Amino acid sequence: MTPQDLAQYRAQLLQERQSLLDRMAQQRDGATSRIEAAVAHFARTEDSTAQVNTARDLELALTEHEAAEMQAIDEAISRLEAGSYGVCQDCGEHITPARLTAQPIARRCTACQSAAEKNAH
Ligand SMILES: [Zn+2]
Repeated sequence: MTPQDLAQYRAQLLQERQSLLDRMAQQRDGATSRIEAAVAHFARTEDSTAQVNTARDLELALTEHEAAEMQAIDEAISRLEAGSYGVCQDCGEHITPARLTAQPIARRCTACQSAAEKNAH
């Protein structure tokens, strides 16, 4: 992998990180107003607590998913800086440029990734 390749993946990761941050900010506003709407709408009904909990659960689920994505991006940037970027963590082979371009946070080569997904199920 050339320094130019590394710079390109780094730029791509930083861009993804930024768009994730933007998305999180937008969703947080959205989720907050959904909770407020739910509180206002169900304030005088019997099941108000259940409705509000659902909106909060939704927000928590979104946040968890984004936190995991953010962590994956940060880890990829650390690997770039440590010089271990683009190497499969399972078999130690180089991950193909096509796969890295499509998914710069990839930690495994295609073969190991599908093996890992099979094991997870
Ligand atoms: Zn592998």
